[in-house]
Amino acid sequence: MFGPLTFPQAQGQNTETKCFLCEDSFNLRLRLDIFVLHTFDVHQCVIDDVQNIKNLPQYVLYWRNRFKERPIEQIIPTVRNEGAQQHYFFLSTLLKEDKLLRHRLTLDYVLKVQEFERTDLNYKRSCLFCKYQHEGSRQEYLEHIFKEHNLHLGNHYNLVFIDELIEHVDSQLQALRCLFCKGVFPERAVLKEHMRKKMHKQISPEDVEYDKFYIINYLEVDKSWRVLQHETDNYALEVDYEENCDQEYSDWTEASGQITCLYCAHCETDMGAIFDHIKTQHNFDFARATKELDFYQKIKLINYTRRMIYRKTCPYCTEELGDSAKLQAHLAQEGHCKVPSDQVFDQAEYYFSTYENDTFLYLIDDIDD
Ligand SMILES: [Zn+2]
Ligand SMILES: [Zn+2]
Ligand SMILES: [Zn+2]
Ligand SMILES: [Zn+2]
Ligand SMILES: [Zn+2]
Repeated sequence: MFGPLTFPQAQGQNTETKCFLCEDSFNLRLRLDIFVLHTFDVHQCVIDDVQNIKNLPQYVLYWRNRFKERPIEQIIPTVRNEGAQQHYFFLSTLLKEDKLLRHRLTLDYVLKVQEFERTDLNYKRSCLFCKYQHEGSRQEYLEHIFKEHNLHLGNHYNLVFIDELIEHVDSQLQALRCLFCKGVFPERAVLKEHMRKKMHKQISPEDVEYDKFYIINYLEVDKSWRVLQHETDNYALEVDYEENCDQEYSDWTEASGQITCLYCAHCETDMGAIFDHIKTQHNFDFARATKELDFYQKIKLINYTRRMIYRKTCPYCTEELGDSAKLQAHLAQEGHCKVPSDQVFDQAEYYFSTYENDTFLYLIDDIDD
């Protein structure tokens, strides 16, 4: 059994990786410097930001296979050193293929860490606030902190590197620093009172320091959730949200307790009411239709549906309608509010929520009751 911190080593401390341009082998974990020197001296190759590439052996293998198909000079751009005659092949994210490759490797890595964190039941840690000693899943730990101490770090489906996140939050509190505004207080009781009164028991969405802990930041190449959230705001302007939604549509990306319909902007505060709405307005009995799906498939179905609706694309037939009104008309006319074929939604990428704090996901456990 290995934890996320030892994860990279688990892929083989002693395995050697063949160079992408010759038959020499290198231990990339222990002696990365030798490989870097080799590619530079022997092949005139520079790999930009090499120490931050996730799963470097896979990266090298990818290019090895590519250079077998086509010579390196036809794929990789060269740079010339000022004044020097020699030119170098420069493997960097300036090349789209390289950028996509690095992104995919990062996503794979993060997914594996998240999978481990979701399923590992041996997480031991004392509570950040009380004497409670936790042993079990990370999700239960986050729930304790949320339910007992009202600190919401995010839906565990959206989080990764949870251990590090909790240690970081702990260090902030130890330093008597508010998590939200970063104000420093003379003693614990004053800090506690400040965070409670000012509603600062949360992480600031503007705080880039926390970006790495939210899986949504790894989803799309070059796209952080800030951008996605901004797009959600635009979406909010286009749809006329219904009257009993007392907050703007975009607000449900925060922990508002509102449950938003899978197909339109309608909100309710309880799951029964949202199911009734989906049944009467969209002619779809969600609970019955998803009875055969397991818990994770339901999560993926919801995330998939959200993503498609966000893209103004029918989740059932995948026709792109381009605007919300047309999409709504299409869904109604074609009767396409239903469960699509599982090949389309039962994919690992839909483990990720489309929106942070999607209350629908929190409450999905209750469907079976
Ligand atoms: Zn070589
Ligand atoms: Zn506690
Ligand atoms: Zn504060
Ligand atoms: Zn609806
Ligand atoms: Zn359709």
